[in-house]
Amino acid sequence: MSDQQRYDTWLATRQEDWEARCRHCGACCGAFEDPCVHLVMTPEGHSRCLVYPARLGPHKTVGGRPFTCVHVRQKLGTSWPGDARCGYKHPDH
Ligand code: SF4
Ligand code: SF4
Repeated sequence: MSDQQRYDTWLATRQEDWEARCRHCGACCGAFEDPCVHLVMTPEGHSRCLVYPARLGPHKTVGGRPFTCVHVRQKLGTSWPGDARCGYKHPDH
């Protein structure tokens, strides 16, 4: 395996570890206030984004409020309703 291949494998592992921190509570998508129109909740209470690969950019909430969807890492310095459940903000809970 080349150095590049080893590096690519390491990067992919880091990406998977990062994504795995999400508990799919939906809080960052407004599940506990005015949710994004693309947010769906399963009967088990897990969130799913209907447009995940194309999620970044302008969207609206169910209530009609415009907002911009960003990477969760750009939100970590802020707070939002339900963020105590977030696996990125509280990885040890
Ligand atoms: S577009 Fe963004 S805010 Fe809306 S459900 Fe998807 S990830 Fe959440
Ligand atoms: S608030 Fe955190 S744990 Fe919940 S869906 Fe958003 S990123 Fe995932």
